Amino acid sequence: MPALINKIALVTGASSGIGRATAKLFAAEGAHVVVTARRHEELEKLVAEIAASGGKAMALAGDVKDEAFAQSLIAAAIRSFGGLDIAFNNAGALGEMGPTTHVSLNGWTDTIETNLTSAFLGAKYQIPAMLDRGGGSLIFTSSFVGYTAGMPGVAAYAASKAGLIGLTQALAAEFGPRGIRVNAILPGGTDTAAAQAMIGTPEGRAFVEGLHALKRISTPEEIAKSVLYLASDASSFTTGTAMLVDGGVSINRT
Ligand code: NAP
Repeated sequence: MPALINKIALVTGASSGIGRATAKLFAAEGAHVVVTARRHEELEKLVAEIAASGGKAMALAGDVKDEAFAQSLIAAAIRSFGGLDIAFNNAGALGEMGPTTHVSLNGWTDTIETNLTSAFLGAKYQIPAMLDRGGGSLIFTSSFVGYTAGMPGVAAYAASKAGLIGLTQALAAEFGPRGIRVNAILPGGTDTAAAQAMIGTPEGRAFVEGLHALKRISTPEEIAKSVLYLASDASSFTTGTAMLVDGGVSINRT
Protein backbone atom coordinates (compact mmCIF):
# COMPACT_ATOMS: atom_id res chain seq x y z
CA MET A 1 0.00 0.00 0.00
CA PRO A 2 1.33 3.50 -0.82
CA ALA A 3 2.90 5.15 2.25
CA LEU A 4 1.02 8.48 2.10
CA ILE A 5 -2.46 7.47 1.04
CA ASN A 6 -5.08 10.05 2.18
CA LYS A 7 -2.34 12.43 3.34
CA ILE A 8 -2.02 16.10 2.41
CA ALA A 9 1.51 17.43 2.10
CA LEU A 10 3.22 20.77 1.53
CA VAL A 11 6.69 20.95 -0.05
CA THR A 12 8.68 24.19 -0.14
CA GLY A 13 11.60 24.64 -2.51
CA ALA A 14 9.74 22.36 -4.92
CA SER A 15 10.81 24.06 -8.16
CA SER A 16 14.09 22.11 -8.31
CA GLY A 17 16.46 19.68 -6.62
CA ILE A 18 15.53 17.87 -3.42
CA GLY A 19 12.12 19.53 -3.07
CA ARG A 20 11.08 18.67 -6.62
CA ALA A 21 12.13 15.01 -6.24
CA THR A 22 10.34 14.78 -2.89
CA ALA A 23 7.10 16.30 -4.19
CA LYS A 24 7.07 13.71 -6.99
CA LEU A 25 7.72 10.85 -4.56
CA PHE A 26 5.07 12.08 -2.11
CA ALA A 27 2.53 12.20 -4.96
CA ALA A 28 3.56 8.76 -6.21
CA GLU A 29 2.98 7.48 -2.66
CA GLY A 30 -0.60 8.78 -2.71
CA ALA A 31 -0.34 12.22 -1.08
CA HIS A 32 -2.11 15.29 -2.39
CA VAL A 33 0.70 17.82 -2.61
CA VAL A 34 0.88 21.62 -2.46
CA VAL A 35 4.14 22.68 -4.10
CA THR A 36 5.76 26.07 -3.66
CA ALA A 37 8.82 28.15 -4.60
CA ARG A 38 9.26 31.50 -6.37
CA ARG A 39 9.55 30.18 -9.97
CA HIS A 40 5.94 29.73 -11.00
CA GLU A 41 6.66 28.11 -14.40
CA GLU A 42 8.79 25.37 -12.85
CA LEU A 43 6.02 24.63 -10.37
CA GLU A 44 3.42 24.40 -13.13
CA LYS A 45 5.66 21.92 -15.01
CA LEU A 46 5.94 19.83 -11.84
CA VAL A 47 2.17 19.85 -11.27
CA ALA A 48 1.67 18.71 -14.88
CA GLU A 49 4.22 15.89 -14.46
CA ILE A 50 2.54 14.72 -11.28
CA ALA A 51 -0.89 14.83 -12.93
CA ALA A 52 0.43 12.88 -15.95
CA SER A 53 1.56 10.14 -13.54
CA GLY A 54 -1.91 9.99 -11.96
CA GLY A 55 -1.08 12.10 -8.88
CA LYS A 56 -2.65 15.24 -7.44
CA ALA A 57 -0.81 18.51 -6.87
CA MET A 58 -1.39 22.25 -6.91
CA ALA A 59 1.11 25.09 -7.05
CA LEU A 60 1.30 28.43 -5.29
CA ALA A 61 4.33 30.63 -6.02
CA GLY A 62 5.82 32.99 -3.48
CA ASP A 63 8.67 33.80 -1.14
CA VAL A 64 9.17 31.75 2.04
CA LYS A 65 10.37 34.89 3.86
CA ASP A 66 6.86 36.37 3.62
CA GLU A 67 4.60 35.66 6.61
CA ALA A 68 1.36 36.36 4.72
CA PHE A 69 2.47 33.87 2.07
CA ALA A 70 3.16 31.18 4.72
CA GLN A 71 -0.43 31.67 5.88
CA SER A 72 -1.86 31.60 2.36
CA LEU A 73 -0.16 28.24 1.66
CA ILE A 74 -2.14 26.67 4.48
CA ALA A 75 -5.36 28.26 3.26
CA ALA A 76 -4.62 26.80 -0.20
CA ALA A 77 -3.99 23.31 1.24
CA ILE A 78 -7.27 23.45 3.16
CA ARG A 79 -9.23 24.89 0.22
CA SER A 80 -7.81 22.46 -2.36
CA PHE A 81 -7.37 19.25 -0.38
CA GLY A 82 -9.06 19.70 3.02
CA GLY A 83 -6.18 20.19 5.49
CA LEU A 84 -2.51 19.47 6.13
CA ASP A 85 -0.70 16.39 7.49
CA ILE A 86 2.90 16.76 6.28
CA ALA A 87 5.12 19.81 5.72
CA PHE A 88 8.55 19.52 4.14
CA ASN A 89 10.15 22.91 4.81
CA ASN A 90 13.03 22.56 2.39
CA ALA A 91 13.54 25.91 0.61
CA GLY A 92 17.02 27.25 1.16
CA ALA A 93 20.01 28.97 -0.36
CA LEU A 94 23.73 29.27 0.32
CA GLY A 95 23.43 33.05 0.30
CA GLU A 96 26.36 35.42 0.39
CA MET A 97 29.59 33.44 0.79
CA GLY A 98 33.17 34.50 1.50
CA PRO A 99 35.32 35.52 4.44
CA THR A 100 32.97 36.23 7.34
CA THR A 101 34.67 39.56 8.01
CA HIS A 102 33.54 40.66 4.53
CA VAL A 103 29.94 39.41 4.65
CA SER A 104 27.40 42.24 4.54
CA LEU A 105 24.68 42.54 7.18
CA ASN A 106 22.11 42.32 4.36
CA GLY A 107 23.70 39.10 3.09
CA TRP A 108 23.72 37.60 6.58
CA THR A 109 20.11 38.62 7.28
CA ASP A 110 18.87 37.38 3.92
CA THR A 111 20.41 33.92 4.43
CA ILE A 112 19.03 33.61 7.97
CA GLU A 113 15.58 34.73 6.80
CA THR A 114 15.55 32.42 3.77
CA ASN A 115 16.75 29.31 5.61
CA LEU A 116 15.67 29.73 9.24
CA THR A 117 13.01 32.42 9.71
CA SER A 118 11.10 30.82 6.83
CA ALA A 119 10.99 27.56 8.80
CA PHE A 120 9.60 29.33 11.87
CA LEU A 121 6.97 31.06 9.71
CA GLY A 122 6.09 27.76 8.06
CA ALA A 123 5.70 25.93 11.36
CA LYS A 124 3.68 28.79 12.86
CA TYR A 125 0.86 28.21 10.38
CA GLN A 126 1.37 24.52 9.55
CA ILE A 127 1.07 23.29 13.14
CA PRO A 128 -2.45 24.61 13.84
CA ALA A 129 -3.67 23.01 10.61
CA MET A 130 -2.07 19.69 11.61
CA LEU A 131 -3.57 19.92 15.12
CA ASP A 132 -6.99 20.22 13.48
CA ARG A 133 -6.36 16.78 11.95
CA GLY A 134 -5.04 15.22 15.17
CA GLY A 135 -1.31 15.39 14.39
CA GLY A 136 1.24 15.48 11.60
CA SER A 137 4.87 15.47 10.53
CA LEU A 138 7.12 18.47 9.96
CA ILE A 139 10.50 18.05 8.30
CA PHE A 140 13.17 20.73 7.90
CA THR A 141 16.13 20.54 5.53
CA SER A 142 19.23 21.27 7.56
CA SER A 143 22.76 20.21 6.54
CA PHE A 144 25.88 18.45 7.78
CA VAL A 145 27.44 21.91 7.34
CA GLY A 146 27.06 23.63 10.71
CA TYR A 147 26.48 20.30 12.52
CA THR A 148 29.23 17.77 11.87
CA ALA A 149 31.44 19.94 9.68
CA GLY A 150 32.83 23.43 9.94
CA MET A 151 33.54 24.95 6.54
CA PRO A 152 35.09 28.34 5.80
CA GLY A 153 33.14 31.00 3.93
CA VAL A 154 29.60 29.87 4.73
CA ALA A 155 29.00 31.31 8.21
CA ALA A 156 25.42 32.50 7.65
CA TYR A 157 24.45 29.26 5.91
CA ALA A 158 25.99 27.13 8.68
CA ALA A 159 24.35 29.23 11.41
CA SER A 160 20.95 29.00 9.72
CA LYS A 161 21.20 25.23 9.27
CA ALA A 162 22.35 24.72 12.88
CA GLY A 163 19.47 26.94 13.99
CA LEU A 164 17.04 24.62 12.23
CA ILE A 165 18.15 21.78 14.51
CA GLY A 166 17.35 23.86 17.59
CA LEU A 167 13.98 24.76 16.11
CA THR A 168 13.33 21.08 15.36
CA GLN A 169 14.05 20.05 18.95
CA ALA A 170 11.97 22.85 20.50
CA LEU A 171 8.94 22.12 18.29
CA ALA A 172 9.25 18.36 18.82
CA ALA A 173 9.15 18.85 22.60
CA GLU A 174 6.37 21.44 22.45
CA PHE A 175 3.98 19.60 20.14
CA GLY A 176 4.89 15.92 20.66
CA PRO A 177 2.20 15.59 23.34
CA ARG A 178 -0.36 16.61 20.67
CA GLY A 179 0.70 14.12 18.01
CA ILE A 180 3.07 16.23 15.94
CA ARG A 181 6.49 14.85 15.02
CA VAL A 182 9.26 17.22 13.99
CA ASN A 183 12.54 16.14 12.42
CA ALA A 184 15.44 17.62 10.48
CA ILE A 185 17.07 15.88 7.53
CA LEU A 186 20.76 16.59 6.95
CA PRO A 187 21.76 15.73 3.37
CA GLY A 188 25.36 15.34 2.32
CA GLY A 189 26.45 16.68 -1.05
CA THR A 190 23.48 16.31 -3.40
CA ASP A 191 23.50 16.82 -7.15
CA THR A 192 21.31 19.93 -7.49
CA ALA A 193 21.65 23.44 -8.90
CA ALA A 194 22.74 24.72 -5.48
CA ALA A 195 25.51 22.12 -5.20
CA GLN A 196 26.67 22.69 -8.79
CA ALA A 197 27.05 26.40 -8.05
CA MET A 198 29.31 25.58 -5.10
CA ILE A 199 31.25 22.72 -6.71
CA GLY A 200 32.03 24.56 -9.96
CA THR A 201 34.63 22.64 -11.97
CA PRO A 202 34.98 18.87 -12.59
CA GLU A 203 38.00 19.00 -10.25
CA GLY A 204 35.81 20.64 -7.59
CA ARG A 205 33.24 17.91 -8.03
CA ALA A 206 35.87 15.15 -7.68
CA PHE A 207 37.13 16.85 -4.50
CA VAL A 208 33.64 17.05 -2.97
CA GLU A 209 32.84 13.45 -3.95
CA GLY A 210 36.08 12.32 -2.31
CA LEU A 211 35.01 13.87 1.01
CA HIS A 212 32.19 11.31 1.22
CA ALA A 213 32.79 7.73 2.44
CA LEU A 214 30.74 6.51 -0.55
CA LYS A 215 32.99 8.55 -2.91
CA ARG A 216 30.06 10.19 -4.66
CA ILE A 217 27.36 12.72 -3.96
CA SER A 218 23.67 11.88 -3.67
CA THR A 219 20.90 12.20 -6.19
CA PRO A 220 17.90 14.30 -5.09
CA GLU A 221 15.78 11.14 -5.38
CA GLU A 222 17.89 9.35 -2.74
CA ILE A 223 17.33 12.19 -0.27
CA ALA A 224 13.60 12.18 -1.11
CA LYS A 225 13.35 8.54 0.04
CA SER A 226 14.62 9.53 3.48
CA VAL A 227 12.21 12.46 3.62
CA LEU A 228 9.42 9.99 2.80
CA TYR A 229 10.49 7.90 5.79
CA LEU A 230 10.22 10.93 8.10
CA ALA A 231 6.88 11.96 6.57
CA SER A 232 5.27 8.52 6.79
CA ASP A 233 4.12 6.31 9.63
CA ALA A 234 7.26 4.21 9.11
CA SER A 235 8.93 6.76 11.43
CA SER A 236 6.05 6.92 13.93
CA PHE A 237 8.40 6.88 16.98
CA THR A 238 10.97 9.29 15.50
CA THR A 239 10.87 12.90 16.59
CA GLY A 240 13.35 15.66 17.45
CA THR A 241 16.12 14.05 15.39
CA ALA A 242 18.82 15.51 13.18
CA MET A 243 18.97 12.68 10.64
CA LEU A 244 22.16 12.53 8.59
CA VAL A 245 21.69 11.20 5.05
CA ASP A 246 25.16 12.16 3.99
CA GLY A 247 27.04 9.30 2.32
CA GLY A 248 29.41 9.31 5.28
CA VAL A 249 30.77 12.83 4.74
CA SER A 250 30.48 13.40 8.49
CA ILE A 251 32.63 10.44 9.54
CA ASN A 252 35.02 10.12 6.61
CA ARG A 253 38.66 11.05 7.24
CA THR A 254 40.34 9.61 4.14
P1 NAP B 1 17.99 23.95 -5.30
O1 NAP B 1 17.73 23.01 -6.43
O2 NAP B 1 18.68 25.24 -5.57
O3 NAP B 1 16.63 24.18 -4.53
C1 NAP B 1 16.41 25.27 -3.66
C2 NAP B 1 14.92 25.51 -3.64
O4 NAP B 1 14.62 26.55 -2.68
C3 NAP B 1 14.40 25.97 -4.99
O5 NAP B 1 13.18 25.31 -5.27
C4 NAP B 1 14.17 27.47 -4.78
O6 NAP B 1 13.09 27.87 -5.62
C5 NAP B 1 13.77 27.50 -3.32
N1 NAP B 1 13.98 28.80 -2.70
C6 NAP B 1 15.14 29.44 -2.45
N2 NAP B 1 14.93 30.64 -1.89
C7 NAP B 1 13.58 30.78 -1.79
C8 NAP B 1 12.73 31.82 -1.31
N3 NAP B 1 13.23 32.95 -0.80
N4 NAP B 1 11.38 31.62 -1.36
C9 NAP B 1 10.87 30.47 -1.87
N5 NAP B 1 11.62 29.45 -2.33
C10 NAP B 1 12.96 29.61 -2.30
O7 NAP B 1 18.93 23.22 -4.23
P2 NAP B 1 18.72 21.93 -3.28
O8 NAP B 1 20.08 21.39 -3.08
O9 NAP B 1 17.63 21.05 -3.75
O10 NAP B 1 18.30 22.65 -1.92
C11 NAP B 1 17.21 22.22 -1.13
C12 NAP B 1 17.61 22.30 0.34
O11 NAP B 1 18.65 21.35 0.61
C13 NAP B 1 18.17 23.66 0.76
O12 NAP B 1 17.63 24.02 2.02
C14 NAP B 1 19.66 23.40 0.88
O13 NAP B 1 20.29 24.27 1.77
C15 NAP B 1 19.65 21.96 1.38
N6 NAP B 1 20.88 21.19 1.24
C16 NAP B 1 21.41 20.96 0.00
C17 NAP B 1 22.58 20.22 -0.11
C18 NAP B 1 23.21 19.95 -1.46
O14 NAP B 1 24.37 19.48 -1.51
N7 NAP B 1 22.51 20.17 -2.56
C19 NAP B 1 23.20 19.68 1.03
C20 NAP B 1 22.62 19.92 2.27
C21 NAP B 1 21.46 20.68 2.38
P3 NAP B 1 12.95 29.26 -6.40
O15 NAP B 1 14.31 29.68 -6.83
O16 NAP B 1 12.03 28.91 -7.54
O17 NAP B 1 12.33 30.18 -5.41
